Amino acid sequence: MYVSVVLFTADLRLYDHPPLRAALSGPREVVPLFVRDTGVAAVGFAAPNRSAFLADCLRDLDAGLRGRGGRLVVRSGDVVAEVCKVAAEADADEVHMAADVSAYAHRRERRLRRALEAEGRRLYVHDTVTAAVTPGAVTPASSDHFAVFTPYFRQWSAQPLRDVLEAPRSVRVPSGVGSEELPSRAALPGVSPGLAEGGEAAGRKRLTAWLRSGVAAYEDRHDDLAGDATSRLSPHLHFGTLSPVELVHRARRAGGPGAEAFVRQVAWRDFHRQVLAARPGAALADYRTKHDRWRSARTAGDDIAAWREGRTGYPVVDAAMRQLLHEGWMHNRARLLTASFLAKTLYVDWRVGARYFLDLLVDGDIANNQLNWQWVAGTGTDTRPNRVLNPVTQGKRHDPEGVYVRRWVPELRDVAGAAVHEPWKLGAADRARIGAYPDPIIDLADGLARFRRARDRG
Ligand code: FAD
Repeated sequence: MYVSVVLFTADLRLYDHPPLRAALSGPREVVPLFVRDTGVAAVGFAAPNRSAFLADCLRDLDAGLRGRGGRLVVRSGDVVAEVCKVAAEADADEVHMAADVSAYAHRRERRLRRALEAEGRRLYVHDTVTAAVTPGAVTPASSDHFAVFTPYFRQWSAQPLRDVLEAPRSVRVPSGVGSEELPSRAALPGVSPGLAEGGEAAGRKRLTAWLRSGVAAYEDRHDDLAGDATSRLSPHLHFGTLSPVELVHRARRAGGPGAEAFVRQVAWRDFHRQVLAARPGAALADYRTKHDRWRSARTAGDDIAAWREGRTGYPVVDAAMRQLLHEGWMHNRARLLTASFLAKTLYVDWRVGARYFLDLLVDGDIANNQLNWQWVAGTGTDTRPNRVLNPVTQGKRHDPEGVYVRRWVPELRDVAGAAVHEPWKLGAADRARIGAYPDPIIDLADGLARFRRARDRG
């Protein structure tokens, strides 16, 4: 019997899965394998919220495979060593996996190919599993990647998408390949209390509900902080419990301005991925340096702590940072304004903020997180790198009634309407009611002046 191993990484699903489909073509047995990669933990990427969501995903994937006569094999260790071990145990001829974009993923693929070939086995790496459009499939005339989104989006939109693949009907797994016990979210410490449920079944349910009753209003409501009117599909895209190809097909079928705006946003994900694929160093180094001499954990420790804990004295910033702690997720508008506040108003190194986001975000993703942070810090692909978001103006615009702030900052619960965005202007009686809520840690005009001086100097 011909045997293949399918190594699952950021593609934890059965629907629309090209590596699984390829491995199952013909009369074959397949080992569906997930390796809990100690290399990922060693670089600090196995944050509790993502580990918990991952545990849900693995359980759901195993259940889906069992429903089709198979099961998931889980191992822990160095990913290359474990894949080789499993391939030897199953006497497999080939291994299939999805392409990915980070430097870590590229190294993993090179090492795995070398190790498998040394043992006479083949590695097949499949595109359009973790991205709708493969990085590098569209390029400008003069470069290996797009540095500006609008022309990228034009070409991205014109790319034909492959057809969506059905989930397999049955999966036969060879006997004699042992698995570790599946991890469980209940056993993990430090998980945010409001963390969403992981797994393909939860992802598909959310997508269907979103296309039925959320996406139509997306264009008008995506920046409404209190309305929470975005898809919240980002963790499912990060873990691959939803296929980006299927997502785009289905959203386009739904049609209308809301769906168009939503697809454009999904294209941002591919945009950052093609930047990172071409410039893997941009995960940590400025993509376009402005010669900043940032404040750091050593020189701005108190400001960084206040930002992380949601006690800067700017209500919308504090609400957003508390939402992040509680849910392991934050609204895009809130990510923009909290990141701008740290990198520009407080003039703290964007890497400090990016690291903290990665420690908490359930969708924490090297391409999207690091390159969005660079975009906000003005060292990335933003064509207006020196714009600074004012948290009071932003709060009044995107949370005009103060509902979002009151949801997350209980000290301000009794302040009515938009006045909640400027608690320092309240009268003495109201101020007494907001108790321990802090005064602003910085004057916005001072922050702006410092940032402008720094950028003029650069
Ligand atoms: P929706 O508005 O419903 O959008 C649909 C999908 O489009 C998202 O799920 C996401 O995959 C993609 N998308 C939307 N906006 C962006 C964007 N600006 N860049 C790239 N893709 C986008 N997104 C992550 O997935 N992981 C991260 O680690 C991450 N870190 C970020 C850090 C900062 C500082 C900023 C400003 C943005 C970050 N984003 C990140 C992008 C964006 O904020 C989230 O993708 C979005 O808020 C997720 O919510 P949603 O699924 O409801 O999005």
